[in-house]
Amino acid sequence: PISITDPMEEHRICVCVRKRPLNKQELLKKECDVITVPSKCVLLVHEPKLKVDLTKYLETQAFRFDFSFDESSSNEMVYRFTARPLVQTIFEGGKATCFAYGQTGSGKTHTMGGDFSGRAQNASKGIYAFASQDVFLLLSQPRYRNRDLEVYVTFFEIYNGKVFDLLNKKTKLRVLEDGKQQVQVVGLQERQVGCAEDVIRMIEMGSACRTSGQTFANASSSRSHACFQIILRRKGKMFGKFSLVDLAGNERGADTSSADRQTRMEGAEINKSLLALKECIRALGQNKSHTPFRESKLTQVLRDSFIGANSRTCMIAMISPGMSSCEYTLNTLRYADSLE
Ligand code: ADP
Ligand code: MG
Repeated sequence: PISITDPMEEHRICVCVRKRPLNKQELLKKECDVITVPSKCVLLVHEPKLKVDLTKYLETQAFRFDFSFDESSSNEMVYRFTARPLVQTIFEGGKATCFAYGQTGSGKTHTMGGDFSGRAQNASKGIYAFASQDVFLLLSQPRYRNRDLEVYVTFFEIYNGKVFDLLNKKTKLRVLEDGKQQVQVVGLQERQVGCAEDVIRMIEMGSACRTSGQTFANASSSRSHACFQIILRRKGKMFGKFSLVDLAGNERGADTSSADRQTRMEGAEINKSLLALKECIRALGQNKSHTPFRESKLTQVLRDSFIGANSRTCMIAMISPGMSSCEYTLNTLRYADSLE
């Protein structure tokens, strides 16, 4: 069928998958890599099955996404095809979101750039920083230079349905919705930034805050969503907004049968928020008028980014390549697959 409008113009959702390399421990354990990426969109999972006659065979499942990144891809490469096209959106007065989804240890924080525990990674090499750099690059161009646009950032965490400000000593914040369905995080610190280096300092500050005071930093961060926002303001009024979200580990949603009450509640909350997120993204993609944003704190806080004519989103599904992660990997891929 011949269409007059460019299909990409109408395309508001981009769904990608990124496979990380096998890590040292996995290599030591001689863990099998069950993922192959034969082309730029296709990804294959070779799941080992045991037959009745005991001969092993592989059952291959194929998935197709907007982009599939194999283990050789860099953060910059992933950024270029995922979040980067969305930077323009906020300069047009729109709302953009980019999500890192996947199992704990699959590379969400590595990709977003909020991890400083490892030597190999730093704040300037992740999507948060790349997006900020491009915001300032666009801002310096003649067509945007004299538009009175100012840049602000926020950084907060949603843990068990509660919001904590990572740029203000993890202060617990209230979320209010007014009669016009405007959602506000009361008292959330918006820090004005003048250059990409300013932003990197904020990312470092917020990330350090995220993991501080916790003996098992990753255990806890795997149960929370971290949201970093770049906000454009014009004469004080909101103009565009880019939310970059490092989601809670999706395997935590299965913690609903844990013996520990706290863990069970957290698991249920994570489950609820990831399901609500799926519905909101689908509603955005299908241009539906009803967005079920009230189902979770995550979607409620991001409400204005799921509605409106100029809202776009990108989902990066992260996967571990190992055979032992196969079940979680398939869950992640099915989730991503259901978004389009
Ligand atoms: P998550 O945030 O999903 O729990 P992390 O980003 O913390 O996972 O990644 C777990 C470990 O794997 C980290 O040590 C990280 O540096 C490493 N890692 C993740 N993705 C990659 C990658 N693409 N290349 C190299 N190392 C990676
Ligand atoms: Mg993480």
